[in-house]
Amino acid sequence: MVSCQHKMNQPAVTENSILEKLLQGNNRFSTAHSIHPDESRQRIHEIAKGQHPFAVVISCSDSRVPPELIFDQGLGDLFVIRTAGNLVGGLEIGSVEYAVEHLQVPLIVVLGHEQCGLSKLL
Ligand SMILES: [Zn+2]
Repeated sequence: MVSCQHKMNQPAVTENSILEKLLQGNNRFSTAHSIHPDESRQRIHEIAKGQHPFAVVISCSDSRVPPELIFDQGLGDLFVIRTAGNLVGGLEIGSVEYAVEHLQVPLIVVLGHEQCGLSKLL
């Protein structure tokens, strides 16, 4: 009961506010103003107790598009699933389900990119 009241007093975290956080991070990255959040020793100790990422990102394995860097996020912020060309099969879906069901991640982002090498082969 106490924990429910505590949660009700916290600001609402919506999918839109999380998406806005990612877009702001991408804006910082694309304008060379990355702040590299959540990389401190304190953060490492915090996430050693458990992970609470705020978004699942399904991304290409292309070395030019690492989600943590292009969204200017840090340790424990994103649950990332990377495959060449964003191809998603049973194993990848299982990872998404784990993040949503067990980690309660509220937002799933599928991140495409320009000049994907795999798309030229298909
Ligand atoms: Zn690609």
